Parts: sequence; C-alpha cells; structure tokens
Amino acid sequence: MAIFAACPTTARATRFGVHRGRCIIALGVLSTLIICATARTNFATDQTPKRRIVIEVGALLDGRGQVLRDTRIVVEGSKIVALDPKASPVDYDLRRFTVLPGWIDSHVHITWSFGPDGKNAGAEQTTQFAAYQSASNAWLTLMAGFTTVQSVGSPTDLPLRDTIAKGAIPGPRILTAVEPLEGKGDKTGTPDEIRAFVRKQKQAGADLIKIFASASIRQGGGMTLSQDQLNAACDEANKQGLRTLVHAYKDAPRAAALAGCTQVEHGTMATDDDLKVLAEHGTYFDPQAGLVIENYLANKKRFLGTQGYTEEGFAAMERAVSLDHDIVRRAVKIPGLKVVFGTDALAGSHGRNAEEFIDRVRDAGVDPMSAMVSANSLAAEAMRMGERIGSIAPGYEADIIALDGDPLKDVTAVRRVVFVMKGGIVYKNVPRGAVPAYAGVQP
Ligand SMILES: [Zn+2]
Repeated sequence: MAIFAACPTTARATRFGVHRGRCIIALGVLSTLIICATARTNFATDQTPKRRIVIEVGALLDGRGQVLRDTRIVVEGSKIVALDPKASPVDYDLRRFTVLPGWIDSHVHITWSFGPDGKNAGAEQTTQFAAYQSASNAWLTLMAGFTTVQSVGSPTDLPLRDTIAKGAIPGPRILTAVEPLEGKGDKTGTPDEIRAFVRKQKQAGADLIKIFASASIRQGGGMTLSQDQLNAACDEANKQGLRTLVHAYKDAPRAAALAGCTQVEHGTMATDDDLKVLAEHGTYFDPQAGLVIENYLANKKRFLGTQGYTEEGFAAMERAVSLDHDIVRRAVKIPGLKVVFGTDALAGSHGRNAEEFIDRVRDAGVDPMSAMVSANSLAAEAMRMGERIGSIAPGYEADIIALDGDPLKDVTAVRRVVFVMKGGIVYKNVPRGAVPAYAGVQP
C-alpha cells in the first residue's frame, strides 16, 4: 500500500482571509481519502506574511497552448507570483510529471447523485444522504484535477458552492445557475415574465443563467422556446451582467447565437452553417463527445424508470453516440469557433470528468493541446475569469495539477492526476503508481 501525506502545516492566508493548516492523506491503493483540516483558524490581517511554496517542474503546459520546460512556480498565499528557475527552497518536486493549470469543467450537475436505493435521484434532493453525496461529488471532482466547475441548474448548488468557498469542505470552485429557465413553449411565459425570472435567479445568487431551448435528445431535441422568448432571456441576462448557457440541439444553437446568448451546450445535429453563425457571433460552444452518454449507457439500470428515462430514450441516446462524435469533429474545424470543455457530469460521472478529454481526442479527432486549452484558458475566458484562472502565470490563482504522463503524447494520462493544488492549498500529492483506483473507473 502506498501512503503519502502532503502536509503544509504552516498557517497561511487563504483568499478567504482565513489561516488554515491542512493535511491531506491519500491512501492510494485503497482509494480511500482522508482529509484532516487542522482547525488553526486564526484571523488573517493584511500584515500576515503569506506562506511561500516553490514547485519545481520539468514540463509545464501553461494553459494557453505553450509548453515551458525546467522552471519553478512560486506561490504565495493563494496566488502564483513568479516563474523563476532559481527560486528556492523547493517544496514540491514535480519534474517527473506534466504540470498544468487546474482544469475547468464548464458544464456539470454537481449535486446530481444516485439515491440510497442506487437509482437516479436527480439533483434536487435535500435529504442528509443527498447532501453527503453532493460533498462526495465535489471531492471526487477536485481529486480528478478539476479546480473550477460550472454547475448548471439546481438550487441545491448554492449551499455547496458557499461551503466550499468558505474553505469548510474540499471541492472545486463552483459557479451555479441556481434554477434553470425550462423552455415549455407558450407556457414558459411572456418575454416580460422571462425577464423577471432571470432577475429572480440573480437575486438568488446565480453566477450565470441556464436556459433549456430544446427538448432532451431523448425526446428528439426540438425547440421549446421561440426566438422572442430566447431574445428576452439572453438580453435580460446581458443587462444584469450575467452570462447565459443554452441547452440547444438542431436549430436552437443558431437561435441562441442570434439572441446574443453567451454559450451553447451540446449542439447535436447543428449544421456547419449553424456553427459558423456561432463563430460569427463569438458564441462559445460546448459539445460533448462521449462521457455523458457512455455514463448513461453504463448505468442504464440505475436511470431507467426514473423521471425522464425510458427504453425509447435510451435507444435515442445509443443513436446519438455517433452524432456527438460528429458534432465535435466538425466544430473544431470551423474557423474562429471557440470550443470549450464541458462534460455534463451527473450521477455516475463525477470524478470521471477527464474521460471526456479522451473521447474528444480519440473519437472526435481533437488535437490534444486544443483539448487541454479548452479546459484551461479558453474555459476561463468563457466564464469571464480569464484574468484569474486557467493559466499558469504570475497573478493567477494557484490552481495547479500534475499528471503522471504526457497528455500530448498519450491522452489517457488525464486519468493519472497525481497532484492537485487549488488556491494555493495542496489537496492531493501521491507518488507515481499510487493514483486512487477510481480514476477512470466507475466508482
Ligand atoms: Zn446538463
């Protein structure tokens, strides 16, 4: 059994202004993870010296498409302050690994879990069991190298987002849409009612607005909002300073781009001409090449018979596998189209988000460096956080991960995350060969 403990025990100022010494022990082979947050909770002042950490790297993907070699990353508090090959003393020697910014998943459902009976329980449960499942989803996601996720469509995201942001439990930085706007044709409401709904989400604490403009792919994916309704939703969100993510198939991606929405999700069955309209409008595009459907098919018994999941729906998803490879393959060839990384992680796929990289590269012909950038600087830019996360450079949050292997040569290296730092705190540091067994495997 391999046991390794990474225990930066010196108090430091976090970005939340709290001093904590944290100790995380990874029992690799048992895939058991224990976190002990030693509760040295003093109150920080601006005069407190920040703890300095030096990480030595051999190969560094900077998140923007460049490979840097043989340097040292200097972290103070929660931020990267320098790249300096002479910095010392070295706290973490990651020269045998590939180092890159913590990944960003633009589309997850972080609270969506299986219930105590093992069946799909959705994202809205408020039982104690569901709360622990949500905390587990967050932990697995962070351990898989994802330091920021955008969770699109459940009020149950809010307490999880805020608890993680306080540093009380480990997990990725979460942005949430709170309650999504569900397209239901005329029943969705008038443009004014839709505008009021958008403002209500902002008041509830939404970081963005999620809009369903198409039915599910299991029901054919037809449009569920008129152009006027979509215009109202995205225009109001723009006025409120919020981004919009639009669930859209077939004709709906084009309609979303024309409405001035920020980002289109899924996009299955959109034509190349539709995708060109997205590129012209600067609309970000987040298609899924595989994980979400693979996960549904692998867990069919756990979804079937729960709300929204029928045999016919599963048959439609089986047909969609090749359509999804096709949309990603075509999207990355459209000049100027900004394709970001999002997995649609839900019950069964939390912590396996990186499988989507493998699907994109292996099944949809995406260049591995583009795949990495799509989950680093490009995803950060799409979230309007491009100055803060997604790159390894001075001034950025110290969100740093390391892989055992080179994802540019063998994309399956994304399953072997051996080091995770988020906001200057090390949450995972396991030696070669001791990656927890669940990485890439159904938990
Ligand atoms: Zn989704």
